[in-house]
Amino acid sequence: MTASRLRVLSVASEIYPLVKTGGLADVAGALPAALAAEGVQVVTLVPGYPAVLDALEGGREVARLDPLMGGSARLVGGRARGLDLLAVDAPHLYARGGGPYADASGADWPDNAERFAALALAAHRIGGGLVARYRPDLIHAHDWQAALVAAYRRFAGGAVPVVTTIHNLAFQGRYPRELLGTLGLPEAAMTIDGVEYYGGIGFLKAGIALSDHVTTVSPTYADEIATEAGGMGLGGLLAARAAQGRLGGILNGIDTTAWDPAADTLLARPFSAADPSGRAANRAALEAEFGLEPDAGPIIGVVSRLTGQKGLDLFLDVLPQAVAAGARLALLGAGEPALEHGFRAAAAQHPRRIGVAIGYDEGKAHRIQAGSDLLLVPSRFEPCGLTQLCALRYGAVPAVSRVGGLADTVVDANPMALAAGAATGIQFGPDSADALLAGLRRGFRLHADRATWQRLQANAMTTDVSWARSARLYAELFRSVMRRARG
Ligand code: ADP
Repeated sequence: MTASRLRVLSVASEIYPLVKTGGLADVAGALPAALAAEGVQVVTLVPGYPAVLDALEGGREVARLDPLMGGSARLVGGRARGLDLLAVDAPHLYARGGGPYADASGADWPDNAERFAALALAAHRIGGGLVARYRPDLIHAHDWQAALVAAYRRFAGGAVPVVTTIHNLAFQGRYPRELLGTLGLPEAAMTIDGVEYYGGIGFLKAGIALSDHVTTVSPTYADEIATEAGGMGLGGLLAARAAQGRLGGILNGIDTTAWDPAADTLLARPFSAADPSGRAANRAALEAEFGLEPDAGPIIGVVSRLTGQKGLDLFLDVLPQAVAAGARLALLGAGEPALEHGFRAAAAQHPRRIGVAIGYDEGKAHRIQAGSDLLLVPSRFEPCGLTQLCALRYGAVPAVSRVGGLADTVVDANPMALAAGAATGIQFGPDSADALLAGLRRGFRLHADRATWQRLQANAMTTDVSWARSARLYAELFRSVMRRARG
């Protein structure tokens, strides 16, 4: 049976490899190819940042959008790095240096409400037939930056179904109510069933309330956010959507071509699940790269933004005990100055046991995955998490806190799972330095048992972390949302 071809307009404020600040870009960049295999044709609408407009091959104007949030704008279509794109070319909104959301000093752009409402409004107009010979069957909005599209559909009139995906509930897009008119929304939108959120305008809130369906990036995170404790102010609304059967979780995958230990040119030596022997050379190379004493206990790897979300302050608290228990550390990350300083100081104190690289470095990220024994992810909350998926594929046994997507993607090495041959890593309780240390110690004991460890590594490396299964779930969801909208 071949399902009919579905045209989806994906709306995202960043997309790998053109613009990336986090996992959202990875997902927006990887899903189109994965969905193509499911008969879903994805065109992605992105802001016309300089990096996007420069990358468009054969970009041409496909429609005018002016006036758009106080300036002239047009829609440019083309391909870039294998992606079908529509870009909102609005120089007054996007032609700037710095990042997609903030200037070079890290301060949010003062007109972010207008910048991303413009993106959502463009999507809404495309849904209404703005572009000749292109009418999407469904709009897939990512995060608060795109979430207002569901509000425009409701209050400006439109018929195209909208699915909104939450990649991180911590970022919600909250703005003063005075902007309502500027954003092109009527007073009638300012209600509890509309865009109103604690007296202001909530972009993500509107997307959650007004979309046909809401997804997030793991089933456990979907459960966690539909509660007062995990809902970050939106728990009640999310619980209501869940009760209607309109909230679910679909796990992220990783690009298994970019993350392929058998063909990874960034590594000292290739290896695979079938022949993991090359891992030893990568471990030795990692010791040399991070100045670690050779072959002296398990190596803990960390590749992470250094922020409170990631729980690395807890790790810093117990790092001396982990080192005393015989472990070494290779850490790559950047973020909060206090954490950067803390890990640097720890490395200065234990130069042969702790190696720290502050910064963003693709090559080092791959080499840590290929050479460390345990890959630690002690997040306080984690919508999905990608680093533990890379770790599974590269045989760095993940040690993770039991939250969100971490709980869904790592099978804890408890006696039953070990006996059943299903274990792929270690889970420990979240938000506790003691639980983290206990989890690591359990990992060290398993590591000392060579046969058990090899089995654990083999299970990890044969776990399916590709997009295939999740792309199928998205395609099924899109089709069922379409059926519901029609029926
Ligand atoms: P988040 O999106 O919350 O930062 P994820 O685990 O979902 O966390 O995705 C992070 C991605 O960024 C992964 O692909 C990871 O390898 C990469 N990454 C994070 N920090 C660094 C770094 N310092 N250098 C290189 N890659 C990094």
